Amino acid sequence: MQTNLSEQAKALPRGAEAESILRSCVHCGFCNATCPTYQLLGDELDGPRGRIYLIKQVLEGSPVTAKTQLHLDRCLTCRNCESTCPSGVDYHNLLDIGRAVVDAAVPRPLEQRLLRQGLRAVLPRPALFKALTRLGEAFRPLLPASLGAKLPRQLRPAKPRPPLRHDRRVLLLEGCVQPGLSPNTNAATARVLDRLGIGITPIREAGCCGALDYHLDAQQQGLARARQNIDAWWPAIEAGAEAIVQTASGCGAFVKDYGHLLEQDPAYAAKARRVSALAKDLVEVLQAEPLESLGVRADQRLAFHCPCTLQHAQKLGGAVEGVLTRLGFQLSAVPDSHLCCGSAGTYSLTQPALSRQLRDNKLDALESGQPQVIATANIGCQTHLDGAGRTPVRHWIELVEEAMH
Ligand code: SF4
Ligand code: SF4
Repeated sequence: MQTNLSEQAKALPRGAEAESILRSCVHCGFCNATCPTYQLLGDELDGPRGRIYLIKQVLEGSPVTAKTQLHLDRCLTCRNCESTCPSGVDYHNLLDIGRAVVDAAVPRPLEQRLLRQGLRAVLPRPALFKALTRLGEAFRPLLPASLGAKLPRQLRPAKPRPPLRHDRRVLLLEGCVQPGLSPNTNAATARVLDRLGIGITPIREAGCCGALDYHLDAQQQGLARARQNIDAWWPAIEAGAEAIVQTASGCGAFVKDYGHLLEQDPAYAAKARRVSALAKDLVEVLQAEPLESLGVRADQRLAFHCPCTLQHAQKLGGAVEGVLTRLGFQLSAVPDSHLCCGSAGTYSLTQPALSRQLRDNKLDALESGQPQVIATANIGCQTHLDGAGRTPVRHWIELVEEAMH
């Protein structure tokens, strides 16, 4: 599409990138068909084509309003539109650029600011988050139902991790909320990888991937976290670590973007590219290994919820299903499996009504094949879906580890 960016927009560090993305959109509207918010709200401005148009107007100098901000806020960043778009429009990068401009121009009401700052103060700090989660559990009966639903229904403590004993080594992003909400996920990962002859080099200095800050009006803080992680991982990378493994696909999608997001930083561009190239979702590691050595005897019928960050961002749709089928699990069919469950980072807290609607639709689809358990690959989806109190939702690697003999 034709563009005429304002001088101010042209001067933005990512102005040229925004212009090139805008020009790649031919305005065909195919993307609207798979956009969850367009499906629910039926408003052109709550679909990708409308949002692209809104961002174009903003970058061309039109007045920015709270209504523009609302339509951009309602986007889940699920990237379903990117999977559908025949022209390869790089929507999420345009959205990030547009959101930064809009949020700088439209101050949020106090309530929204406090919510966003509160989430940024607590969620990326694993020790603090874990302590608050345990406190919440102790006082669960006193909590409002909406908050109680954010706590795990059943907290499975971490099983012991195996000692380091293999030449093959990877790094593992421990994550920020996952150790508090599902402490056994990374422990199960360590046990499965150990059985495959792969050890995990512990790096205590690495922390939250930065996605939480980045998507809550604090892009620079998110990038600062990315730089900290790169510094923390670098010595182990130089020592030969073969991959940086993520067990939460939301974190994985962001780490794989470090290279792009830091390409204009001369001190970090090359290292960030290397880190992104080494970043792997756990399923990418497993699917290349001889899984027979795990000795899995699977007897559960399960439905797999493929997170948007796995299928649309990392383009790994079908990969976990393939591994689980190889291991002998029975997978039930899931209609509309391309749609978002409504978790989307902190979306369930910032847009609770839309999020709940998407969650209930997703659970209906997942339960239609009557599974005993639902498996997924991202802590956000896991907690969000499990919080409905319906079929239990677990990380798939825990099911694999429990079935090993
Ligand atoms: S983003 Fe892609 S599918 Fe959507 S209107 Fe633009 S070109 Fe068409
Ligand atoms: S990222 Fe998802 S919610 Fe946002 S416009 Fe694209 S399809 Fe719609």
